[in-house]
Formats: sequence, structure tokens, C-alpha cells
Amino acid sequence: MNPDFDQIKRTTDIIRVVESYGVKLKRTGRNYVGRCCFHDDKNPSLIVTPDKGLFHCPGCGAAGNVIQFVARKEGISDREAALKLVSTGESPRDQKLDVAEHAAYTAMLNMILNLDEVITKE
Ligand SMILES: [Zn+2]
Repeated sequence: MNPDFDQIKRTTDIIRVVESYGVKLKRTGRNYVGRCCFHDDKNPSLIVTPDKGLFHCPGCGAAGNVIQFVARKEGISDREAALKLVSTGESPRDQKLDVAEHAAYTAMLNMILNLDEVITKE
């Protein structure tokens, strides 16, 4: 099964996700700014716009939605990032999953989690 990217983008709190990677965000009007975690950022140049669910850094050119943020940060594909967001509860799980899909989903999840362990051990 494929994760529902649109649903994840709609339901995931991008501010929470970005902050979960150690970026402290400060609100400025409709945007949030913080030190970019994709380059050595001395001044806060990462801009997050929760209304649109997008982030952008003029300093290093990193930009995209919450899934692309996680994918870039973790060095994984968009699909894996989407699954990760669902698995960590950042995006509510799709209620329509049937049992077989759920099994496949869990297997995929374990694979990703094992992958994480391998990366951490290096
Ligand atoms: Zn940057």
C-alpha cells in the first residue's frame, strides 16, 4: 500500500515535526523561523509556513513539505518518510487499512526501524 501523501501533509503539524529534529522555531506573523538544520546556520534562516505546510531555507535552498523535510533529514525516500510520519503518530493512521494492508505496513515499518538501527550503529 502507499501512504496517502495528501492526507499526511494535511494532518501533520509541520512545526512539531521540525522541532522534533532539534530546530527551535520562533513565530513571526504567519511564519516560523529557526536555525536551518540542513546547513551550518548562524542566523535563523529556515522559514516554516504552517498554513501551507511548507518549509524553505534561502541559505541552502532546502525547501518542500513536511514529508520532504523528514526525507531530507533522514536520508530516506519520500515514501519512507511518509510511513515514518504515520508510524510515529504525527499523522493519524488511515482508518481504511484492512488486515492484509496492515500486516504489509507493519513489515515495512520494521524494515525502516531496522534500517534506522543499522545507521545509528555505524
Ligand atoms: Zn539551510
